[in-house]
Amino acid sequence: MSTQQIALFVAAGVSIWVYMDAKKNNYSTPMSIGWMLGVFMLMIVFLPFYLIVKAKRAKHPVMSTACEHCSKVYFGSPNYCPHCGYLVRKV
Ligand SMILES: [Zn+2]
Repeated sequence: MSTQQIALFVAAGVSIWVYMDAKKNNYSTPMSIGWMLGVFMLMIVFLPFYLIVKAKRAKHPVMSTACEHCSKVYFGSPNYCPHCGYLVRKV
C-alpha cells in the first residue's frame, strides 16, 4: 500500500464517521453529505470546523420548555404542546 492509498483510506474512514456522526446529531441527509464531502476533500479545514460546531451544539442541546397550560416539558419549538395541544408558539 502506498502512502497516497493510506491517506485516501483514512480520509474515507473519517468522512464516513463524520457522516454518521452528523446524522446522529440531527443534521439532515444533504447537510450530512455536505459535511462528509467537505471532510473528504479538505479534511484539514472541515474536520476541525465540524468538531467546533459539534461542541457548540452539544453546549446548546435541543431546548426544552414547560408548557404554560399543562406544565409538562416538551422539546424543540413546536407550534402546539405535544401533551395537551395548547398553542405554545407565539406568532
Ligand atoms: Zn401542554
